[in-house]
Formats: sequence, structure tokens, C-alpha cells
Amino acid sequence: MTERTNAARMHLFDESARHYAARFQDYLLHRLEQTHPPLRGPKTAHELDDATGPLITDEGLGYEAAYTAFTEVIATATIAMDHPRMLAYVPAAPTVASELMDSVIAASSIYAGSWMEASGVVHAENAALEWLSNLAGLPASAGGTFVAGATIGTLSALAAARDRYLNRHGDRPRRWRIAATREAHSSVAEAARVLDAELLTLPVNEDLRVSVDGLAQLGAEDLDGVFAVVGTAGTTNLGIVDDLAALAEFAERHQLWFHVDGAYGGAALAAPSVRANFAGIERCDSLVVDPHKWLFGPFDCCALLYRDPTQAVRAHQHDAGYLESLNNRREFNPADLAIHLTRRARGLPFWFSLAVHGTRAYADAVEAALSLTREVTQVIDDDPLLEVAHRPELSVIVFRRIGWEAQDYLAWEKRLLQEGVAFVASTRYGQETLARLCFVNPLTSMGDVRLILDDLRVDR
Ligand SMILES: *Cc1c(COP(=O)(O)O)cnc(C)c1O
Repeated sequence: MTERTNAARMHLFDESARHYAARFQDYLLHRLEQTHPPLRGPKTAHELDDATGPLITDEGLGYEAAYTAFTEVIATATIAMDHPRMLAYVPAAPTVASELMDSVIAASSIYAGSWMEASGVVHAENAALEWLSNLAGLPASAGGTFVAGATIGTLSALAAARDRYLNRHGDRPRRWRIAATREAHSSVAEAARVLDAELLTLPVNEDLRVSVDGLAQLGAEDLDGVFAVVGTAGTTNLGIVDDLAALAEFAERHQLWFHVDGAYGGAALAAPSVRANFAGIERCDSLVVDPHKWLFGPFDCCALLYRDPTQAVRAHQHDAGYLESLNNRREFNPADLAIHLTRRARGLPFWFSLAVHGTRAYADAVEAALSLTREVTQVIDDDPLLEVAHRPELSVIVFRRIGWEAQDYLAWEKRLLQEGVAFVASTRYGQETLARLCFVNPLTSMGDVRLILDDLRVDR
């Protein structure tokens, strides 16, 4: 064999590739048809080392050993985020159609950073973005792209906001600042650190929404260096939708960029029963919504929308000689709208599933989680041992088990995962540790929830 054919060996679809393609296909089909995959849990690096032996060698493990390491050890040391009793943090619940398309993308070598190389893909992704944009009430000129997560989406949007401030004011202020309440997600603080900005903490009412009176008391002199205000459309911890109309008003009054973080809750724009809670969102300059959370897409996928995408292009366009032929096109290049260049076609699974099932199915699936939350709230209200700590607005419920201390909640979490029953995570609300459940998966039933609540009756 010559050096060259030897080098190309890995790229040929030979007999062993065909054999393992078939085995992976079986693996995929099995995983896709499991509605209740084993929950499992983490292992230590030491346990994993012992179980697999060396994972990379000079001569290669060969397909069989690598396949076995993956199926028996690596894949089993992960938690099934789409299990109907995975109710910690924000669960995932990708549709079968979205996962099928995600597998196809893996084999298609699509460069989705530019219109030229992926016009069809970007066009379809844009259709999915347009659905979200319309739900939010943004103008037809709005547009955006899909990024890995709301963290990078928010950072990209706030970088565009800072750029707009510079363009308007000519020079930089003494210090950059971003205004948000303390209920904002940690990704806002992270974006502030990256952008070398400080946080201006906006006052809240007892309901943890921004205080309109507090906003009115902030004069121009208090807002020195503030270039953006962030509102949260569904906080991760409690599912609170902030007073977006008041924040929009405030942003307009002071000519600030208004960014809305709908990473989790933005999905509920599709749900008629709670749509009114989002009033004011149509006035935002930018918005993030994670399809990998409550819009039933696979990881990792965040929709980033701008009211005026040209503001984003100005901040994010790559200026490189070899990219010149890609720029100056009427169709936006996704690469020019966020902090990235090379990009997976990560919005395509979301589009495909929307295309297959239609938007009404999405509205129904989001409503299913909302109505389950209402039912669970009723059950908790009726149980003398349990007490709702914060009335759910979306699909997060936080409640206490009378008589329990922090360590009891931790033991509860641990027990449920060890027994393979459920994955839940308690939370802190004020000084108190509390039970928290978050619903997004339409396969989660009241029966699933009862299994988890029953374990709260354990006394120790
Ligand atoms: C999950 C979440 C984020 C972060 O999103 P990633 O996709 O994990 O980067 C930001 N804001 C809120 C409200 C969230 O729930």
C-alpha cells in the first residue's frame, strides 16, 4: 500500500465502516424509540479509566473496541436529559424529527456560516426564526441566526448594543454598564465581564419583577455608561416573566438597547394561555430563545433575533481578505450576526420538526407543560405536608416540604437518582432550600410527578 492510500484509509466507506454504520443505525433506532431511557448518573474519572483503559493509542483501538467503549461506558455515564422524570434545571425534550435531522447534519458537511455555502439551509433556518419573530411581534425586517446557546446569544447581542452606543456617541464612556435586575441569569453577568462592563442592578418589587417606581427614579445621571437593559422572559429558577413593557419604556426613554432573555420562557410565546404575560417583548432590540430547552430541539441550539440585523452585522462582520466574496450579499451570512464564524446547521433540526408537525403542535406541546404545572400546583396545595413557595407563572414550581432542612432535600435528590427514579434538583430561594421541578417534556405525566412527590413523604 502506498503512503497515500494508507492516509486515505480512514476516509473510505469500507467493509468495517459499513458494518459499524449498521450497528450505529441500530443504536440510533433503539435510542430514538426509548421514551424512558435509563436515567443513569455520573461516574468518577477513575472509574471511567478503569472501565475503558486507554481511549487513544498510536495504533488505534479499532472499531470494535472504540464502539464498545462508547456504548458500554461513555454513553452510559450520561444522564438522559429527555427522560420524562428528568425535572432538574431546564430539561430537554427533542422531537424524533429534530433528532433525525440532527443525525443527517452530522453526515452532510454543511458549512452554515455563510449564505453562499449553505443558502438552502440558512433559508430554512430563517423560516424557523421568522416564526419566533412573528410570535414575539417583531417587524418583518427582523432577523438573526442560531448559536450554540443563550449565553453566546446574549453576549453577541450585548456586543452589538455596545457597538451601537459607540457609533452614536463617538467615544467610550468612563465605564461600560448593563442594567438588569438580580433575577437575571448568570449569563448576563458573564457577558458583562467579557465586555468589561459593570452591572447596574435595577430595583424589583416583592413579586421579583422590576419596580416601575424604581425605574422612574433613575435619571440620566444614574445611567452613566449604561448601553443596554436586559429583561428576563421566564427566569430559570422560578419562571418569572419580567415586566417587559416597563423595561421597554425605560429603554426607549433613555435610548438604551433592550435585550430580552427568553432562553427558557420564550417558548411560551407560542402558548395562548400565557402569551399576555410577555407584553412589551415586541419592543426589544434583541431576543434569545433556546429551542434546546422548551422548543423540543436537540442540543445545542439558541435562536438569536435582532430587530435590526444590520446593527449586528456592523458589530460582528468578519473583516478578512479571503471572506470578501462572501460579504456584500443581500442575504445575511449567519457568521456576521454573532460571535462565531464556522457554524453547524444547528437550527435545521428545529426547522425540520416544525415543518413536519406544524406550529399548532408546538403550541399544544408547550401548553401541555403549562397545564401539568397547574395540576401539580393543585396537588401540592391539597397536601398538608407540602407548600408552594412561589406561584408558578410558566412551568417551574418551587415548593417546600414542611419540616425539611437543606440536607433532607439533598438526600431526596440523591435517593431519586440512585434508584433511577428521577433527576430533580433543589434550589435556593432567599435563604431557604426548596424543592423545584421544571416541566417541558410532553411525555411527563401526573403519574411521573406522583412518584417524585411520594418520596417527599419519607421522614428521617
Ligand atoms: C438556560 C438559560 C440561559 C443560558 O442558556 P444556554 O443555552 O445554556 O447558554 C440564559 N438565560 C436563561 C433564562 C436560561 O434559562
